[in-house]
Amino acid sequence: MSAESELLEKIRTLSRPVKIMHICGTHERTISRNGLRDVLPEEIEVLSGPGCPVCVTPKEEIDRAIALAESGIIVTSFGDMMRVPGSSGSLMDARSRGCDVRMVYSIDDAIAIAEKDPESKVVFFAIGFETTTPTNAAAILRKPPENFSLLLTHKLTIPAIEALIDEIEVDAFIAPGHVCTIIGIHPFEQFAEKGFPIIAAGFEADELLLSILMILEQLKAGEYKVENAYPRAVKDEGNVRAQEMMDKVFKVTDSQWRGLGTIPDSGMVMRPEFSQYNASIIYADLIAEKMKNISYENSLSSLCHCADILKGKEKPDNCPLFSKKCTPSNPVGSCMVSQEGMCYNWFRYRGVDSA
Ligand code: SF4
Repeated sequence: MSAESELLEKIRTLSRPVKIMHICGTHERTISRNGLRDVLPEEIEVLSGPGCPVCVTPKEEIDRAIALAESGIIVTSFGDMMRVPGSSGSLMDARSRGCDVRMVYSIDDAIAIAEKDPESKVVFFAIGFETTTPTNAAAILRKPPENFSLLLTHKLTIPAIEALIDEIEVDAFIAPGHVCTIIGIHPFEQFAEKGFPIIAAGFEADELLLSILMILEQLKAGEYKVENAYPRAVKDEGNVRAQEMMDKVFKVTDSQWRGLGTIPDSGMVMRPEFSQYNASIIYADLIAEKMKNISYENSLSSLCHCADILKGKEKPDNCPLFSKKCTPSNPVGSCMVSQEGMCYNWFRYRGVDSA
């Protein structure tokens, strides 16, 4: 019997009606690709929370990046980010209009572009959760060239859960393994104290099944705690060196999330001593000028249900645009863009793609 079959057997033995939310796009990918929702007992519902960084980046941030690109600045970002719609198109659309928008695989690629062309101005559109923030902090501490800066839209996991926990109907959480490698498991203890089992999980199908089994065991025992089901990568205290680097370069600030509004203390901004690398400050006037005429009234995207999907309140096929006007090749909302997005995965792995 395979490890997955054994875990499923144990899960069936302990099965009960339960809603479990993960907060990680990579977890959603594993769950969808392996069809885990279909093999779990029906009464065990696995919901996708706001854990896909591309999905939660608001239109306003995309528009700011496009404003820079339209002003002759080289804007670099990860491939998925280039396809996320802002108020009127994506960075990819800006590129098709002649703007210099380049896909990179890391911040170091973006710095290399700046080094190679010192006369140009290069911005790295930096997205992501605690997982990617330390890499960007380390790059800034290495003092990149003066023509390089960051447009930041980093998000923090814990404040997002805090903001949602009273609003959503959830019994337990699977904590994102990548994020836990950085921040450890202790920051999640506050949720266990409120009665939510919470398990830090790895990214293989059997690791996710194990985390579900551990949640059921906690519920049966009536004991709610944070447990680490990903010890090969996660230390309870996290990566202290990475935390220090993050803290040195960035500080916590309120942040806007797509569909969720502004969440207190849920983002990161560059500390004043690194302002020379802060594109929001360097190009503040230019961004303000470009943004002042932007309208956020878009009839098609107003039908998008990403806000409720990111809160685990709805499934993608509740959205009237799903698989019709909104597909991976023509995404209307952010959840359809990335391989970590709920709508993308629903489209790819629940049969729609082959229709
Ligand atoms: S299908 Fe498209 S429009 Fe509908 S919720 Fe998903 S991303 Fe938004």
